[in-house]
Amino acid sequence: MTTTSYRAELYPICDLVSTLQGEGTWAGMAVFLLRFSGCPLACSWCDEPRHRDPQATRHLTPAAIVAEMRRLDPHLTHILLTGGEPLAVPGLFYLVDYFKDHGYWQAMETSGVGGEIPFGLEWVTLSPKTPLPEALFNRADEVKYIIGANPSDRQTEEIQERARIHDNVWVQPCSEATVALPGQSPINPQALQHCLAHIKRSGGRIRLSLQTHKWIGLP
Ligand code: SF4
Repeated sequence: MTTTSYRAELYPICDLVSTLQGEGTWAGMAVFLLRFSGCPLACSWCDEPRHRDPQATRHLTPAAIVAEMRRLDPHLTHILLTGGEPLAVPGLFYLVDYFKDHGYWQAMETSGVGGEIPFGLEWVTLSPKTPLPEALFNRADEVKYIIGANPSDRQTEEIQERARIHDNVWVQPCSEATVALPGQSPINPQALQHCLAHIKRSGGRIRLSLQTHKWIGLP
Protein backbone atom coordinates (compact mmCIF):
# COMPACT_ATOMS: atom_id res chain seq x y z
CA MET A 1 0.00 0.00 0.00
CA THR A 2 1.50 3.38 -0.97
CA THR A 3 1.30 6.59 1.02
CA THR A 4 -0.89 8.10 -1.67
CA SER A 5 -3.53 5.35 -1.75
CA TYR A 6 -3.95 4.72 1.96
CA ARG A 7 -7.33 5.80 3.21
CA ALA A 8 -7.85 6.17 6.94
CA GLU A 9 -11.42 5.76 8.17
CA LEU A 10 -10.98 8.29 10.95
CA TYR A 11 -8.74 11.34 11.29
CA PRO A 12 -7.52 12.77 14.66
CA ILE A 13 -8.72 16.37 14.92
CA CYS A 14 -8.24 18.66 17.91
CA ASP A 15 -9.58 21.88 16.35
CA LEU A 16 -11.95 22.63 13.52
CA VAL A 17 -13.00 26.28 13.51
CA SER A 18 -13.84 29.09 11.12
CA THR A 19 -11.27 31.83 11.69
CA LEU A 20 -8.62 33.99 9.98
CA GLN A 21 -5.14 32.91 8.93
CA GLY A 22 -3.04 35.16 11.13
CA GLU A 23 0.48 34.55 9.84
CA GLY A 24 2.70 34.95 6.80
CA THR A 25 1.67 35.58 3.20
CA TRP A 26 -2.04 34.89 3.67
CA ALA A 27 -2.55 36.82 6.95
CA GLY A 28 -6.10 38.12 7.09
CA MET A 29 -7.65 35.46 4.85
CA ALA A 30 -10.72 33.59 6.13
CA VAL A 31 -10.03 29.87 6.58
CA PHE A 32 -11.18 26.77 8.30
CA LEU A 33 -8.41 25.93 10.73
CA LEU A 34 -8.12 22.15 10.78
CA ARG A 35 -5.65 21.19 13.46
CA PHE A 36 -4.58 17.55 13.63
CA SER A 37 -3.56 15.87 16.86
CA GLY A 38 -0.07 14.43 17.25
CA CYS A 39 3.44 15.53 16.29
CA PRO A 40 6.72 13.58 16.12
CA LEU A 41 8.63 16.62 17.45
CA ALA A 42 8.57 18.25 20.88
CA CYS A 43 9.63 21.89 20.46
CA SER A 44 10.16 23.72 23.74
CA TRP A 45 8.19 26.77 22.50
CA CYS A 46 5.22 24.78 21.16
CA ASP A 47 2.16 26.96 21.76
CA GLU A 48 -0.39 24.27 20.85
CA PRO A 49 -0.23 21.71 23.67
CA ARG A 50 -3.80 20.60 22.97
CA HIS A 51 -2.61 18.53 20.03
CA ARG A 52 -1.15 16.10 22.58
CA ASP A 53 -4.27 15.96 24.74
CA PRO A 54 -6.34 12.80 24.10
CA GLN A 55 -9.33 14.54 25.71
CA ALA A 56 -9.17 17.25 23.04
CA THR A 57 -9.03 14.80 20.12
CA ARG A 58 -12.02 13.79 18.05
CA HIS A 59 -11.76 11.04 15.44
CA LEU A 60 -13.77 12.06 12.39
CA THR A 61 -14.43 10.62 8.94
CA PRO A 62 -13.70 12.83 5.90
CA ALA A 63 -17.46 13.14 5.33
CA ALA A 64 -18.03 14.26 8.92
CA ILE A 65 -15.30 16.91 8.58
CA VAL A 66 -16.87 18.32 5.41
CA ALA A 67 -20.33 18.25 7.01
CA GLU A 68 -19.01 20.17 10.01
CA MET A 69 -17.29 22.76 7.81
CA ARG A 70 -20.49 23.30 5.83
CA ARG A 71 -22.41 23.75 9.06
CA LEU A 72 -19.82 26.19 10.47
CA ASP A 73 -19.70 28.32 7.31
CA PRO A 74 -21.29 27.16 4.04
CA HIS A 75 -19.58 29.96 2.07
CA LEU A 76 -16.01 29.37 3.19
CA THR A 77 -13.88 27.34 0.77
CA HIS A 78 -10.34 27.69 2.18
CA ILE A 79 -8.74 25.26 4.64
CA LEU A 80 -5.50 25.57 6.61
CA LEU A 81 -4.21 22.13 7.58
CA THR A 82 -1.97 22.38 10.60
CA GLY A 83 -1.18 20.62 13.83
CA GLY A 84 0.41 18.98 15.53
CA GLU A 85 1.98 17.73 12.34
CA PRO A 86 -0.26 17.10 9.31
CA LEU A 87 2.41 15.06 7.50
CA ALA A 88 2.35 12.49 10.29
CA VAL A 89 -1.39 11.83 9.86
CA PRO A 90 -2.04 8.41 8.24
CA GLY A 91 -4.13 8.76 5.10
CA LEU A 92 -3.36 12.47 4.58
CA PHE A 93 -3.08 12.13 0.78
CA TYR A 94 -6.57 10.68 0.62
CA LEU A 95 -8.00 13.41 2.83
CA VAL A 96 -6.44 16.18 0.72
CA ASP A 97 -7.89 14.61 -2.44
CA TYR A 98 -11.27 14.28 -0.72
CA PHE A 99 -11.33 17.97 0.23
CA LYS A 100 -10.20 18.93 -3.26
CA ASP A 101 -13.01 16.87 -4.80
CA HIS A 102 -15.40 18.85 -2.59
CA GLY A 103 -14.12 22.17 -3.93
CA TYR A 104 -11.82 23.30 -1.15
CA TRP A 105 -8.57 25.32 -1.56
CA GLN A 106 -5.99 23.94 0.86
CA ALA A 107 -2.89 25.30 2.52
CA MET A 108 -0.74 23.33 4.90
CA GLU A 109 1.71 24.34 7.59
CA THR A 110 4.34 21.72 8.32
CA SER A 111 7.67 21.19 10.04
CA GLY A 112 8.54 18.89 7.12
CA VAL A 113 8.88 15.89 9.44
CA GLY A 114 6.68 12.80 9.43
CA GLY A 115 5.81 12.02 5.81
CA GLU A 116 5.51 13.23 2.22
CA ILE A 117 3.76 16.40 1.08
CA PRO A 118 0.48 15.67 -0.76
CA PHE A 119 0.17 16.82 -4.38
CA GLY A 120 -3.22 18.52 -4.11
CA LEU A 121 -2.22 21.41 -1.86
CA GLU A 122 -2.36 24.95 -3.22
CA TRP A 123 0.05 26.35 -0.63
CA VAL A 124 2.78 24.89 1.59
CA THR A 125 4.30 26.75 4.52
CA LEU A 126 7.48 25.05 5.66
CA SER A 127 8.42 25.86 9.24
CA PRO A 128 11.74 24.05 9.80
CA LYS A 129 12.60 22.82 13.27
CA THR A 130 15.28 20.33 12.19
CA PRO A 131 17.67 19.99 9.20
CA LEU A 132 15.55 19.15 6.13
CA PRO A 133 16.17 17.89 2.57
CA GLU A 134 16.53 20.60 -0.08
CA ALA A 135 13.57 19.16 -2.01
CA LEU A 136 11.23 20.28 0.77
CA PHE A 137 12.42 23.86 0.47
CA ASN A 138 11.91 23.69 -3.29
CA ARG A 139 8.29 22.61 -2.73
CA ALA A 140 7.61 25.30 -0.10
CA ASP A 141 5.69 28.39 -1.19
CA GLU A 142 6.92 30.15 1.93
CA VAL A 143 9.49 29.33 4.61
CA LYS A 144 8.71 30.52 8.10
CA TYR A 145 11.20 30.29 10.93
CA ILE A 146 10.02 30.50 14.53
CA ILE A 147 12.61 32.46 16.49
CA GLY A 148 13.16 31.85 20.18
CA ALA A 149 14.76 34.03 22.83
CA ASN A 150 18.18 32.36 22.37
CA PRO A 151 18.61 31.24 18.76
CA SER A 152 21.79 29.35 17.90
CA ASP A 153 24.43 30.78 15.57
CA ARG A 154 23.76 27.83 13.26
CA GLN A 155 20.06 28.74 12.94
CA THR A 156 20.91 32.42 12.38
CA GLU A 157 23.28 31.65 9.53
CA GLU A 158 20.89 29.08 8.03
CA ILE A 159 18.06 31.61 7.88
CA GLN A 160 20.20 34.24 6.20
CA GLU A 161 21.46 31.70 3.68
CA ARG A 162 17.93 30.47 2.99
CA ALA A 163 16.76 34.02 2.34
CA ARG A 164 19.39 34.36 -0.37
CA ILE A 165 17.93 31.43 -2.34
CA HIS A 166 14.20 31.39 -1.47
CA ASP A 167 11.93 34.31 -2.39
CA ASN A 168 9.44 34.07 0.47
CA VAL A 169 11.13 33.81 3.88
CA TRP A 170 9.59 34.96 7.16
CA VAL A 171 10.72 35.11 10.76
CA GLN A 172 8.16 34.91 13.54
CA PRO A 173 8.95 35.52 17.22
CA CYS A 174 7.87 32.69 19.49
CA SER A 175 4.76 33.35 21.48
CA GLU A 176 4.27 33.13 25.22
CA ALA A 177 0.49 32.83 25.19
CA THR A 178 -2.29 31.36 23.08
CA VAL A 179 -4.17 34.69 23.11
CA ALA A 180 -3.11 38.31 23.58
CA LEU A 181 -4.46 39.61 26.88
CA PRO A 182 -5.62 43.26 26.89
CA GLY A 183 -2.61 45.58 27.02
CA GLN A 184 -0.20 42.65 27.02
CA SER A 185 1.88 41.39 24.10
CA PRO A 186 2.07 37.60 23.68
CA ILE A 187 5.44 38.02 21.92
CA ASN A 188 8.71 37.14 23.60
CA PRO A 189 10.61 40.48 23.51
CA GLN A 190 14.08 38.96 23.01
CA ALA A 191 12.77 36.80 20.18
CA LEU A 192 11.33 39.91 18.54
CA GLN A 193 14.71 41.66 18.69
CA HIS A 194 16.35 38.67 17.00
CA CYS A 195 13.67 38.80 14.27
CA LEU A 196 14.30 42.50 13.66
CA ALA A 197 18.05 41.87 13.41
CA HIS A 198 17.38 39.18 10.77
CA ILE A 199 15.17 41.51 8.76
CA LYS A 200 17.68 44.35 8.75
CA ARG A 201 20.58 42.06 7.86
CA SER A 202 18.70 40.41 4.97
CA GLY A 203 18.41 43.58 2.90
CA GLY A 204 14.66 43.20 2.43
CA ARG A 205 14.54 39.46 1.73
CA ILE A 206 13.10 38.45 5.13
CA ARG A 207 9.78 39.70 6.49
CA LEU A 208 8.19 39.69 9.94
CA SER A 209 5.27 37.33 10.58
CA LEU A 210 3.13 37.94 13.65
CA GLN A 211 0.30 35.80 14.97
CA THR A 212 -2.23 38.54 14.26
CA HIS A 213 -5.21 36.29 15.03
CA LYS A 214 -4.16 36.25 18.69
CA TRP A 215 -4.33 40.02 18.86
CA ILE A 216 -8.01 39.97 17.96
CA GLY A 217 -8.90 36.98 20.11
CA LEU A 218 -9.29 34.40 17.33
CA PRO A 219 -8.11 30.77 17.60
S1 SF4 B 1 6.57 20.96 15.22
FE1 SF4 B 1 4.97 22.46 15.75
S2 SF4 B 1 3.31 21.23 16.68
FE2 SF4 B 1 5.18 19.95 16.68
S3 SF4 B 1 6.07 20.28 18.73
FE3 SF4 B 1 7.07 21.74 17.28
S4 SF4 B 1 5.85 23.63 17.45
FE4 SF4 B 1 4.62 21.97 18.38
